[in-house]
Amino acid sequence: MSGALLDKKIVIIGLGLIGGSVARGLAGKCREIVAVGRQEAMLRQALDDGSITSWTTDIAAACKNADLILVAVPSLTVEKTLVAIGHTDAVITDAASVKGEILRAAERVYGQVPPNFVPGHPIAGSEHSGYTASTPRLFNGKKVILTPLADSDASAVALVTALWESLGAEVLTMSVEHHDAVLAATSHLPHLLAFALVDTLSQQGESEEIFRYAAGGFRDFTRIASSDPQMWHDVFMTNGDATVTVLDEYIKDLHRLRKAIQARDSEELMSTFRRAKKSRDKFLEMLSGDTDPA
Ligand code: NAD
Repeated sequence: MSGALLDKKIVIIGLGLIGGSVARGLAGKCREIVAVGRQEAMLRQALDDGSITSWTTDIAAACKNADLILVAVPSLTVEKTLVAIGHTDAVITDAASVKGEILRAAERVYGQVPPNFVPGHPIAGSEHSGYTASTPRLFNGKKVILTPLADSDASAVALVTALWESLGAEVLTMSVEHHDAVLAATSHLPHLLAFALVDTLSQQGESEEIFRYAAGGFRDFTRIASSDPQMWHDVFMTNGDATVTVLDEYIKDLHRLRKAIQARDSEELMSTFRRAKKSRDKFLEMLSGDTDPA
């Protein structure tokens, strides 16, 4: 499928974990890879690594004669990036973790979502950020969700699909609303819980003692609290409604468990834990082979 990219000029705006991993994975599979970023030292490093063929800090200049533009900046920065790209014949896609707000941003910038704009979200990542954390195989065997609209250009969708497939990803499509609801439950809520738990414990008087003796469970549960605060700030600022809906369900269940613990309700606790273990085991079986998505 990567043959579709061979003669293409691809521009990656935001050479961090996601943009850098795309660049590293694409190297040698297309005519040109131009990176746009803010940190010149990092861009020079990427050129030295052979991940990109050139770089600039000027978005408009980079996008001249581009075939495909990937916007891989934090969600709230996508709008001003689209303004800087302006009207273009190139296919535009993004990697942001939320999709509804990205479509609204595209509408504000272009008047309506252009047919050559295909929103996307790779379900792969890590708690590390920046180009130094990027790896060429980040998307291998992972899923990428595209949320094209009814009037999205079929050839634009095909080119974005070819991009992700050339990195070993499986491409799925779904509606924007479904994406934001599913990701609120499976990714945004867990990140919120991890940040909240670490924050709660760190504010307790004996937090150092707590962290010193924290066992594997704490480490496993809170790994994602090391994720980039800016990225997650942007996610909750832009997918608030869907997150609050699933958060409310979770709070309801925590209250139920709190009551069961207070009442020493063994039956309620055992049935909850058994149900959860069964679901998690089934989930692992379903995903066997995959590693943790972000
Ligand atoms: P990152 O912090 O590693 O990289 C973001 C990059 O964008 C940085 O290099 C930063 O310098 C650059 N940038 C910021 N503003 C810019 C601007 N105005 N012009 C040019 N460059 C700019 O973040 P990331 O993890 O690569 O995330 C990028 C996007 O991908 C985000 O929208 C995020 O929601 C999404 N995403 C992240 C993950 C993950 O696990 N990290 C997974 C899937 C999707």
